[in-house]
Amino acid sequence: MDDDNNKSNKWNLSLNDMGRSLTLFAVFMGYALFTYFKTKNIFLIFNFVYIGSSIALGLFLINGAPRKLIPTIRRIILFLIGIYLLVYVGFIRTENMQMEGFFFYLFGGIFAGSTIHYLIAKIFGPIIFGRGFCGWACWIVMIFELLPYKKSRGRIKNLGIVKYIVLFLSFGIVLYFWNRGYTIYNYPEREILWFVVGLLLYYLSGIILAFAFNDNRAFCKYLCPIPPIQNILGRFSLIKMSIDKDKCVDCGLCEKNCPMDIKLLDYKNENKRILSTECILCSTCSSVCPKHAISTKIKFDFGKDILNYKIDKK
Ligand code: SF4
Ligand code: SF4
Ligand code: SF4
Repeated sequence: MDDDNNKSNKWNLSLNDMGRSLTLFAVFMGYALFTYFKTKNIFLIFNFVYIGSSIALGLFLINGAPRKLIPTIRRIILFLIGIYLLVYVGFIRTENMQMEGFFFYLFGGIFAGSTIHYLIAKIFGPIIFGRGFCGWACWIVMIFELLPYKKSRGRIKNLGIVKYIVLFLSFGIVLYFWNRGYTIYNYPEREILWFVVGLLLYYLSGIILAFAFNDNRAFCKYLCPIPPIQNILGRFSLIKMSIDKDKCVDCGLCEKNCPMDIKLLDYKNENKRILSTECILCSTCSSVCPKHAISTKIKFDFGKDILNYKIDKK
């Protein structure tokens, strides 16, 4: 135990971790070149270099950082990427990064920054990193993470259905306007208006929910329309958290601190990785584990395992 604690209270950066981070950065460079050759848009190179280096740096640091610094490092990366997407892509390049913007581009067959973002971060990317976007890059939740309710008190049963209704409404509104010949992508002032109004609605409802349920992540659990999309391929995610059964002493700290109410020990008892699509790979569980028993594992999951949800419901 002392040995574990000593190891996890010091910096322990390794060449292996650096190699893994550089590999990840190379994957982003691959995306950059692929999208650049398809679109001849130099901005895409800058975009992927910025996001790839932020994520690779975050991965390198959390693998070697003292345990108590892990949440801070994750939040710094969350802000680095979230602010970039919000301010640079959203406001300076005037692209509607909200769900409705994506639907407008999709109907118009436009391959814009927002389209690429949704395809990679929210539709196909989850097959590799699940809901990692939600833990490390979301410009909505970065604001909610400043609120005081970091520990969840459990979920309200059946309220999760509301996010499917929001998704349906979001799609329906765009379809309605599209059918009447209304577009946003040729009109920067319309695009910015949709973006700002959508953002304000999300921020306002998220803050109200956080205070109502004493839970910073209440918006993610009940209202955000993104998880139903991420979860289609996210359940197959190669990267998932995993508990080393031999090291775990069943202290329960990981479950008590998980912001997404995941029953980690149920998975451990079944010798499974954390299969829940609610996991946002935030590493909170591994940062509080006194035995250093939780880490990310890369693997395929098949069969009924991928439908195995274990979340704490009130
Ligand atoms: S659930 Fe929605 S608001 Fe929450 S982190 Fe994911 S995309 Fe952001
Ligand atoms: S915090 Fe670590 S030791 Fe405690 S129950 Fe979770 S995995 Fe096991
Ligand atoms: S299981 Fe761990 S990594 Fe996943 S959401 Fe919970 S605390 Fe974060």
